Amino acid sequence: MGLLKRIFSFTKPYKKTLYTTMALSVALAGLSVLRPLLIQTSVDTYIQKHLLTGLIWMCVLQLAALLLESALRFWFAYRANWLGQTSVNDMRKEVFRKILHQHLSFYDRTPIGILTTRTINDIEAVNDIFSEGIISITADLLTIIAIIITMIIINWKLTLICLIPFPLLVIATYWFKESVNKSFQRVRNAVAHLNAFAQEHLTGMYLVQAFAAEKREAGKFDEINKEHRDANIKGIFAYSVFFPIVEIILAISLGLLVWFGAKSMLNYQSTHMTAGVIISFVMYLNLLFRPLRMMADKFNTLQMGMIAGDRIFTILDSKEYLHNNGSYQPQRIIGDVEFKNVHFSYKPGVPVLKGISFKLEHGKTMAVVGHTGAGKTSIISILNRLYEIQEGSILIDNRDLNEYDMYSLREHVGIVLQDVFLFSGTIYENITLRNTDIPLSKVQEVAKMLGIHDFIMRLPGDYNFNVMERGATLSQGQRQLLSFARALLYDPSILILDEATSSVDSESEQLIQHAIDTLIKGRTSVVIAHRLSTIRKADRIIVMEQGQIIESGSHSSLISKKGTYYDLYTAVEKQVEKQNVEVL
Ligand code: ATP
Ligand code: MG
Repeated sequence: MGLLKRIFSFTKPYKKTLYTTMALSVALAGLSVLRPLLIQTSVDTYIQKHLLTGLIWMCVLQLAALLLESALRFWFAYRANWLGQTSVNDMRKEVFRKILHQHLSFYDRTPIGILTTRTINDIEAVNDIFSEGIISITADLLTIIAIIITMIIINWKLTLICLIPFPLLVIATYWFKESVNKSFQRVRNAVAHLNAFAQEHLTGMYLVQAFAAEKREAGKFDEINKEHRDANIKGIFAYSVFFPIVEIILAISLGLLVWFGAKSMLNYQSTHMTAGVIISFVMYLNLLFRPLRMMADKFNTLQMGMIAGDRIFTILDSKEYLHNNGSYQPQRIIGDVEFKNVHFSYKPGVPVLKGISFKLEHGKTMAVVGHTGAGKTSIISILNRLYEIQEGSILIDNRDLNEYDMYSLREHVGIVLQDVFLFSGTIYENITLRNTDIPLSKVQEVAKMLGIHDFIMRLPGDYNFNVMERGATLSQGQRQLLSFARALLYDPSILILDEATSSVDSESEQLIQHAIDTLIKGRTSVVIAHRLSTIRKADRIIVMEQGQIIESGSHSSLISKKGTYYDLYTAVEKQVEKQNVEVL
């Protein structure tokens, strides 16, 4: 009940509509008993006694009742659905806002497919609570009650007789509800699997085709697809059995009605039994069965909506967002960086950084080197608070990172990641990240500084060139260059650069080299370097191994030490030489 209340709390801003729909459902329940009553009176009073004028009036009334009922029904359906869509729109907005602010570690644990399902499908299921669930169940229940009361008032004995097959209906409904519910859940799981599978394979199509795995993957897809079909067919079976059964039960009710009604009419046993009563009862029974038939289905919808609502609220209640407790919003920062005995882990119990300490003065460049998995990327992820450290402290301009307003901090700390991600949109939009406050001229200025303006101008449509999803239409080197422009645009005092390992052609290489030099000039830079030239130029180098700094110093001092750095450097050097020979 608490859950339903919470779902309905989203209708709060639209209270008026909620009350209107409630009032309408009461009015409709009342109206639904009116027309059979009019027919009964027409038959018993006007037709039997041949009163033509009265009969015409009854017809007019009948027509008026029909029109009124139709109008109200339209209004009710329209408003109830409007209420659903509007509340659900708010809910979706809130969920997406929440997702945007979740901690990155949340995404390390939660598959993307699940979140898509939450923001799209689950919320749609909640919408059904409004459009088909609770409001219409209430409306139906009111109608059923109104009809049964009217029938009892007209003739309670006949009512009881008509309702004899009701227990059968209850049993059939229960069976139907259970089996549909089960198959619905199977269908939902299958849909989630289909979604996840399709999404993953579309993203990884390159791999699938490169490794000629089409046949195998198609086979896997068939399995999931079959499960989806089977689950649906189970549900359809329940529907196909249930509806004829309800028809049979209705027929039995009608049969009992006609049999006992006609018998008592002919026997003159009851003065209450007239042709009009029998006709109106036929109508009432039809009106009664219509909502009953749909009731089980609606209860399922309600149940599904509640399950979905529960899942949505789990996300809304999650406390895993980054706490932006700091308030310091400097106009400009100098750029001194200090790590003091920093410990960090993505997962509790699996330390990734174990006591990192270093000091980097403003304007200097520090290169971070080390084997794969040593913790290099992790160092920079905690520097602009993408992740939270567990122990120690990080200081910028002698101030703890937590004292900074997070958004202000991120403006001053520019970042270029190892994997460049591009959204579908133009080059301009990708560089500004759709911040329309930044004029094109500013973007061009930055591009010229980086030396990539010419390359962009050569693209069809230059700055309006449409980058397809994930930058599919650009080479890796080109994508990197765009990400440099992104970082430089905000003229950050501190620059974090995770150089991509992949080698690019020599023209791009020169461009990138120039761009990197421009990027780090005059800024405090932390560079996870793979290029020898970048490493050599650094004022300071730290060598990482298994989450610790094992060596640190200048290039020449580390070379003369002949330790891990020496080995790493000479290995890379050899590789480059080999490649050059191959190229030549
Ligand atoms: P590379 O040179 O390959 O980029 P790296 O030095 O940047 O390696 P990190 O990405 O910092 O390495 O990873 C350090 C350790 O942390 C690895 O053991 C890795 O498995 C783990 N790790 C990295 N990212 C996550 C994450 N999001 N969740 C859990 N563990 C992670
Ligand atoms: Mg890395």
